[in-house]
Amino acid sequence: MTHHPLPIKPCPFCGDTDPAIDEISSDDWALCCNGCGAIGPYYHDDGSSEVGPKAIELWNRRPGEGLPAGISEALNTGDGTYRP
Ligand SMILES: [Zn+2]
Repeated sequence: MTHHPLPIKPCPFCGDTDPAIDEISSDDWALCCNGCGAIGPYYHDDGSSEVGPKAIELWNRRPGEGLPAGISEALNTGDGTYRP
C-alpha cells in the first residue's frame, strides 16, 4: 500500500505552496510559509501521533471550517493563530 503525503493547502496570505514544518517552541510544531513568514496553528507534540500530519491538518484548516478539540482555546489566547 502506497502512503501518499497529505496535500498541503497554499498559504492563505501569499499563496505559497511549499510551507515548511518547524518546531516553533519546545514541542510546538507548525507549518511556516516560506513566502511571507505566516505561521500556522501550533500542534503540541505529546508523543501520541506523528507531528507532520497533525501540523499539516491544522495548516489546512481555514476560518469557518472548525477546529479540533483543544485548538480553539489556543486560538483564543493568541497562541497558534496565523501570523503574517
Ligand atoms: Zn505566505
